[in-house]
Amino acid sequence: GLIDQLKLTDAEIAAIMGHEIAHALREHGREAMSKAYGIEMAKQGAGALFGLGQDSLALADTVANYGMTWPNSRGNENEADLIGLELAARAGYDPNAAITLWNKMAKASEGAPPEFMSTHPSSSSRIASLQAAIPKVMPLYQQAKK
Ligand SMILES: [Zn+2]
Repeated sequence: GLIDQLKLTDAEIAAIMGHEIAHALREHGREAMSKAYGIEMAKQGAGALFGLGQDSLALADTVANYGMTWPNSRGNENEADLIGLELAARAGYDPNAAITLWNKMAKASEGAPPEFMSTHPSSSSRIASLQAAIPKVMPLYQQAKK
């Protein structure tokens, strides 16, 4: 849906893939999931203490839900942006596509934003930090293209 709606180029798709792969490599999901698990365990513990009973299915549900739908922290997002930029450049995709990608996202957020936008808002600070990092990864891109 995202690809069609924003008419993404290969390099822009690479920018998203790089970002998501970076989350996986840095295990950001697991971090968020264990945080959510800790919160839920504390709640369940309190529930047991007060005789409210436990529902392990609901617990599993909650944990899965947090893992899939919770937005990453700002720090994790920034890290995924920068690592993703490098991954895309090393794979031979123009890192400047990250800028056009997030500009398209910003434009799309005015109408009916793609679901990805709910956890990945486009912001001027996101674009600025990507812009600042592009010169550092350009040599990797040039080398990969050869
Ligand atoms: Zn992200």
